[in-house]
Amino acid sequence: MIDRVVIDNIVETANAQIVEVISDFVSLRRRGSNYICCCPFHNEKTPSFNVSPGRGMYKCFGCGKAGGALKFVMEYNNMTFVEAIKYLGNKFNIEVPEMEETPEMAQLRNERESLMSVADFARNTFQKNLWETDEGARVALPYLRQTLRLRDDVIKKFELGYGLKSTNAFTSQALQYGFKQEYLWKSGLTDGSMNDTFCGRLTFPIHNAAGKPIAFVGMTLQQAENLPTYIITPENELYQKERTVYGIHIAKNEIVKQERCFLVNSYTDAILMHQIGITNVVASENGALTDGQITQIRRFTSNVSIIMGKESVATAFDNIDMILSRGLTVKILLLPEGETLSSYIYKNAAENVAAYIDEEQTDFVIFKAMMLMDKVQSGSLDMPSAISGVIASIASIGDGILREIYIQECSRILQISEQSLTDALNSY
Ligand SMILES: [Zn+2]
Repeated sequence: MIDRVVIDNIVETANAQIVEVISDFVSLRRRGSNYICCCPFHNEKTPSFNVSPGRGMYKCFGCGKAGGALKFVMEYNNMTFVEAIKYLGNKFNIEVPEMEETPEMAQLRNERESLMSVADFARNTFQKNLWETDEGARVALPYLRQTLRLRDDVIKKFELGYGLKSTNAFTSQALQYGFKQEYLWKSGLTDGSMNDTFCGRLTFPIHNAAGKPIAFVGMTLQQAENLPTYIITPENELYQKERTVYGIHIAKNEIVKQERCFLVNSYTDAILMHQIGITNVVASENGALTDGQITQIRRFTSNVSIIMGKESVATAFDNIDMILSRGLTVKILLLPEGETLSSYIYKNAAENVAAYIDEEQTDFVIFKAMMLMDKVQSGSLDMPSAISGVIASIASIGDGILREIYIQECSRILQISEQSLTDALNSY
């Protein structure tokens, strides 16, 4: 049991600083004496989630969720009462004396904590391999420095490392350190024959938003055909791929500041962007976003710019309509013909890349209308298909005023009347 006095103390302290508590998870804007944002508990495009510092309360006028700091922490993080009390006690430096847990609670907590410490140990070991062994200095560092052209400070910032070639160097160290087989298997860093998964591979930790490693990507250094280029550790109690965005822990502050998040499609692209000083950048596979990833990004901004090569554009349309329907605004940045983001960054000075990114972002709906119109004019698409493609995107947007602006713009681009577009939208 926790002493009632301790609980009351924590609850009162947290409510008195409720803006600070909630700001750790969503980005709040001041409005009068209150703070507002889009509700993290339901899907909306205009903010109806209110935080009142005076009353130590939050309330959503859309879905009706309301309460104090403790309830927010529990609901937002899916924490139990005890977990949330511990979290807030820790945040405000209030000691929470040990208490009894149910066996199930204890088991889940143990599981997560064990996997967390395996990941922590792995990150440290791989970094040591990279910086403090001969093999790291001979094989891995030159690859990072010369082939990927990363600076040492950036390699350290992203906590990149290296798995030694020996078949079980990591596993035997981990066992010696006292980790149970079970957790090494679950972490995916050790295989069924008790060998290392990442032999002779560069390691990229994937972090949660708080900056703790929760999974790893191993990248091969050999160009052998029978080896996968990347291996990603499996999902477990700690790591859910669907809810994880690479680099969010380093990018989040700048995303809030710039009110924009750049989305790129590979780990190395994200790291290279940071290296040239553009730090509001995250990566997801193929530059597509899942629902859970959108929720992660929306905690910090509602503006996303997707950077992609021309060849991936058409396949991205459906995913982008889904992103629009979740209340984010989307811009598209097309790379010059034949370039990947990495090749473009390698060839150009940082300030030129930054200027290109500033100038070439186009609003997605406008971009799509222009692209479809190009196809109509070249004869590869008929007009009704172009119209329904554009309408599909406009229909995904919740904001009525924004929809109207798009109707006007797209009527100009597609050279048809606003009325025809409005009719098409209404019958969509
Ligand atoms: Zn709500």
